[in-house]
Amino acid sequence: MTAGWKPGQRHSDDACYRMGALKLGIEPCEYRAKREAGLRWCSGCHGWEPVERFGPHIRMRDGLNTRCVESAREYAREYQRRKRAR
Ligand SMILES: [Zn+2]
Repeated sequence: MTAGWKPGQRHSDDACYRMGALKLGIEPCEYRAKREAGLRWCSGCHGWEPVERFGPHIRMRDGLNTRCVESAREYAREYQRRKRAR
């Protein structure tokens, strides 16, 4: 076996780009270009933000939150407020 070869890695990356692009309604190549530029789509701000601004998320496949830290904080606050209101 060739050293450094990881089975299925490239394929899963491509599938990931296609899925992400489909969700945002953009071309996979556009999505890929953004990801390769170190950006990530923030589902809270509905915009591209640097990956450094995203916190970890254990349940996500790539281990990162779908919201940036600020959006996640805002979301958590809103969630707490709704929970308390019940
Ligand atoms: Zn954000």
